[in-house]
Amino acid sequence: MSDTASTALDAYPTECLMNTAARPPLVFVRGDGSWIWDHEGRRYLDFVQGWAVNALGHSPRVLREALETQAARLFTSGPGFFNEPSLRLARLLTEHSPFDRVFFTSSGAEANEGAIKLARKWGTLHKGGAFEIVTFRNAFHGRTLATMSASGKAQFEALFEPKVPGFPKATLNDLGSVEALVTDRTVGVMVEPIQGEAGVLPADDGFLRDLRALTRARGLLLIVDEIQTGMGRTGRLWGHEHAGIEPDIMTLGKMLGSGVPLAALLATDAVACFEHGDQGGTLTGNPLMTAVGHAALSTILAPGFLDDVRARGADLRTALEEVSRTHDLGEVRGRGLLLALDLGREIARDVVVRARAAGLLLNTPRPSTLRLLPPLTVSRGEIDLMARTLDAVIAEMPA
Ligand SMILES: *Cc1c(COP(=O)(O)O)cnc(C)c1O
Repeated sequence: MSDTASTALDAYPTECLMNTAARPPLVFVRGDGSWIWDHEGRRYLDFVQGWAVNALGHSPRVLREALETQAARLFTSGPGFFNEPSLRLARLLTEHSPFDRVFFTSSGAEANEGAIKLARKWGTLHKGGAFEIVTFRNAFHGRTLATMSASGKAQFEALFEPKVPGFPKATLNDLGSVEALVTDRTVGVMVEPIQGEAGVLPADDGFLRDLRALTRARGLLLIVDEIQTGMGRTGRLWGHEHAGIEPDIMTLGKMLGSGVPLAALLATDAVACFEHGDQGGTLTGNPLMTAVGHAALSTILAPGFLDDVRARGADLRTALEEVSRTHDLGEVRGRGLLLALDLGREIARDVVVRARAAGLLLNTPRPSTLRLLPPLTVSRGEIDLMARTLDAVIAEMPA
């Protein structure tokens, strides 16, 4: 179990973990940028990156330094005291978004859980106890009981009954389906600018603008779950910017921590109505994690960084469209560096396994869909290599 070049898999106590996922027989031991190494010293080009998490790739120097500097100063002082890194990160987030107040959490689900609680509190104070939040079919908002209930994932439906009530489901890009669910119990609408786990299904910019107009007209909160689309993933800092809207509440996770457990709930002043004791958590605003988040966001905000993300996003789209044309596959969907390739038939799992054998890590959110989640720092050469490998894998697929 040391980091010698090669260790046999049976040296690892894999049976000691709860068996909650079909994991391949690999143990990853080291990463560097777009690359990751397994227990046998094999190297993979990583287009999963911790599930859309590592904005700057594996173990980037700027985040290592932030972590080490903060670790030497203060791990945590607890949620009952202010600490410097969380204040610095909260200020950076509010300076670069339409929001005024931040609550930090450790996971995206916890941030969404907080958003649901904040909306319900606001409904209690300002809307006669309204508590329902309209969410969408195929949405993914996390794995706590309330966020599973808010999700529209078919596999969740039969699990852990009874669900938390109050999450009627509308259809993405169908405003009428939202309007039909709005009653005097409704307090808000929660939407992902791009439904990532559903297979990279974008909300149209016009639909997001219509949702903003509808929620304003009916006095409802608009909550955007930007856990996957935020932090520059789509080529703009926030996914909702493309539509030119200003939501009331936003949640962040994944690339906010860029590899460490950090997420956040942001709200405008008018909506941030938590009172003492309403919301908390032992590790909320943890200095170690928020120091890393501050370094990650500062890097993404540096001049030219998002220009490069947009350029690499265009390169990746072109490369995927070429693979699709060559093999007569389906459409390329998404924005920036959150793209999916539709394979046209249910072979994605097989493609992922064969790509891994060829030294490329890919993700499949749906049986016929590949999702590409490179770091925002991916190079053109790495995109070309990914496309060449994918092309060869698909060429060898049985008909
Ligand atoms: C990943 C994700 C979540 C859940 O975040 P966790 O950190 O896994 O709890 C919620 N919403 C969206 C859109 C996500 O992509």
